[in-house]
Amino acid sequence: MNQVTIIDGVAVSRTLRQEVSSRAAALHKVGVVPGLAVILVGDDPASAVYVRNKVKACEEHGLHSTLDRLPADTTEIELLARIHELNEDVRVHGILVQLPLPQHIDSHKVIEAIAPEKDVDGFHVANVGALMTGKAGFKPCTPNGVMKLLEAYDISISGKRAVVVGRSNIVGKPMTMLLLEAGATVTVCHSKTPDLAVHTKDADIVVVAVGKCNVLNGAMLKPGAIVIDVGMNRNGEGKLCGDVHFASVCDVAGYATPVPGGVGPMTITMLLVNTLESAERVTAQHP
Ligand code: NDP
Repeated sequence: MNQVTIIDGVAVSRTLRQEVSSRAAALHKVGVVPGLAVILVGDDPASAVYVRNKVKACEEHGLHSTLDRLPADTTEIELLARIHELNEDVRVHGILVQLPLPQHIDSHKVIEAIAPEKDVDGFHVANVGALMTGKAGFKPCTPNGVMKLLEAYDISISGKRAVVVGRSNIVGKPMTMLLLEAGATVTVCHSKTPDLAVHTKDADIVVVAVGKCNVLNGAMLKPGAIVIDVGMNRNGEGKLCGDVHFASVCDVAGYATPVPGGVGPMTITMLLVNTLESAERVTAQHP
């Protein structure tokens, strides 16, 4: 019988969030409350849930948060003006614009309008460039959360063969850079990769961020592989599922993340960490 360790993202998240609370309390003592400003444009129900969870997590861990709910017909100029106000607001240490934005707004322009030192999502080109060149900057929350999970389970990365499935700007590409920076030999697969299993069968670590159920199963893995499932999908019955066939993966893998309860909780946790660290940095610069 294969012995798989299920990576518990809820537990790792809890420990990190406790640390956020105590570091936030230390800032409160010097009169600083770490602040996150969230902007939601339009009324996409999934986005509304994500935003609510982010605001709630801030409240629970000693961070101050504001939520701008702007109507779907908000113009790009109006949105950019609001971002400029928040850039100037000293109570705001992190700014997050929930994506996707309505079609008439250029998301790229909006992200670039956020001051890089408040871009706690890590999507601004300055932070993307910092990640590419191994410099300090905000790291995107989901891939950085994956790195924290690996760290929490003492999984070494240096010298390992890693495969990242998916090449999006928010997950796949930054995940690739973080694994590379940690010393892995990384292969990136995507929709044009002819035979995914050729790559995954050779991998010590597989991170899947595709957005489709059952893209990876146990037969596509090397025994003992570490499998990280970033996917959050609804199956035919409306049930939440990841990108991997969890049961068959558990028959072969050494470690695996469940969905829910794996990578999911880490994303908001890393948002709290980034906002807190932004506040700590400003406080250290202007005590
Ligand atoms: P995108 O749709 O932006 O990217 C998906 C990637 O998967 C693309 O690079 C695409 O390739 C690739 N792909 C599509 N089909 C296949 C296939 N059959 N085989 C290999 N690669 C394929 O998605 P995201 O990166 O934004 O999200 C991925 C998943 O992660 C989603 O389920 C999303 O909900 C989830 N997610 C979860 C988060 C969390 O907090 N847990 C946070 C963010 C995302 P190509 O580039 O060629 O089109």
